[in-house]
Amino acid sequence: MTDLLHLTLAEAAHGLRSKTFTSVELTGAYLDAAAKARALNAFVLETPEKALAMAAASDGRLAKGEGGPLEGVPLGIKDLFCTEGVRTTACSRILGNFVPPYESTVTSQLWRDGAVMLGKLNNDEFAMGSSNETSCFGPVVSPWRRAGSNVHAAGSGGAIAGTHLVPGGSSGGSAAAVAARLCLGATATDTGGSIRQPAAFTGTVGIKPTYGRCSRWGIVAFASSLDQAGPIARNVEDCAILLRSMAGHDPKDTTSADLPVPDFAAAIRRGVRGLTIGIPKEYRIAGMPGEIEALWEQGSAWLREAGATVVDISLPHTKYALPAYYIVAPAEASSNLARYDGVRYGLRVPGSDIAAMYEKTRAEGFGREVQRRIMIGTYVLSAGYYDAYYVRAQKIRTLIKQDFEQAYARGVDAILTPATPSAAFGIGQKGSDDPVEMYLNDVFTVTVNMAGLPGIAVPAGYDGEGLPLGLQLIGRPFDEETLFAAGQVIEDAAGRVTLPRTWWSS
Ligand code: GLN
Repeated sequence: MTDLLHLTLAEAAHGLRSKTFTSVELTGAYLDAAAKARALNAFVLETPEKALAMAAASDGRLAKGEGGPLEGVPLGIKDLFCTEGVRTTACSRILGNFVPPYESTVTSQLWRDGAVMLGKLNNDEFAMGSSNETSCFGPVVSPWRRAGSNVHAAGSGGAIAGTHLVPGGSSGGSAAAVAARLCLGATATDTGGSIRQPAAFTGTVGIKPTYGRCSRWGIVAFASSLDQAGPIARNVEDCAILLRSMAGHDPKDTTSADLPVPDFAAAIRRGVRGLTIGIPKEYRIAGMPGEIEALWEQGSAWLREAGATVVDISLPHTKYALPAYYIVAPAEASSNLARYDGVRYGLRVPGSDIAAMYEKTRAEGFGREVQRRIMIGTYVLSAGYYDAYYVRAQKIRTLIKQDFEQAYARGVDAILTPATPSAAFGIGQKGSDDPVEMYLNDVFTVTVNMAGLPGIAVPAGYDGEGLPLGLQLIGRPFDEETLFAAGQVIEDAAGRVTLPRTWWSS
């Protein structure tokens, strides 16, 4: 019997088409795995009935030799994507039991291509965070543990703080579910690193495509000029397959690009011979752990051995990216989140008059981090501070974009950096007194969103305690293909990720 949980998405799609197993069998195996893994808290809603109905329909199409490229393949969906008739909360109390009457464009394209929905995945509230600890459903526990760490089996409780690790965020449920083999792939979103950082923390592959590559329609908005959807999957090829279905022009999103969607999976064997890979000196930040530095060196050696030319480059405005991001993103968030007023969606807390109702609803409905972002956002957009903060941050954003444009104009095809400044940390370990400690997770990823570029995180090694570490490749606008090609070179050189032991299975 095929081990259905350890196939890649590409292998599973092939097994379905060649009738080695059915989608009902495959989907059943994943539903079981998810039900046994509740200790990870990766799913906030399991939809077994819907999954099995979709799987049966897929089997019907497969039997007739019909069906799309993802026919019968079970996926997890980040709870930021609106799913028609299925509760969607962005992991915020304020959305309560919101059941969207529409389907996001990205998910509807996955269903069009035959994919099966297993359920909705946990994330940081409104995708604000880097550890999945701000979710109203509680933190996701990473399937990874430090070598030799003494975490008790699922259900023993009490051992969460300190021993259990975060999966990263905000797409923590997506990354944990893929790493723990609870789904074949997952949707995710990335505003400042929320696909790439959790992928790096969990030994999975995640790509944030170019801004405009995927439609944002039907995705709960955080910061609209930065938000992009993308996949998290087990390997580079699976990410390429998923992105092809997720991407494409959508007249309902005016920022979506009217460009053909390439066959990304066809690009993975292109190699890097003849390409120029830039190493930006500004990413060698003070206090960078030796193992991250060594990983980065190793990555450039692998690309050089595969035929790329590796050159040093400068992206001089890098150090302003994080502070500018934490002005632009909250500004847009404060505006986007104004719609949660207790009238139109989800939670309503009654008050003596309408203003009191707004205040009470928003005070109870939003968590602390979201409230902080709304306060920062409203402040930087206020008449007195708009020019001093918001306008300056936008100017910095332009300078960051120009840094990349200059590197690409000089012939650089892609840029290699570490994905994160460290491996995964413990639940409760960071940011409780100082939010900036948490924000620093995004130093290598936010520049990419600020410039609207594509970026991929690929597992490349382990830290001293056996935790996965990732490298990031940043590409030219709409050149995800080069990222898949170079990402595949790193994946091949690094070897298959050893899986975390299934300590969580109940
Ligand atoms: N960690 C970053 C933040 O909190 C990015 C989150 C994201 O990409 N959605 O804003």
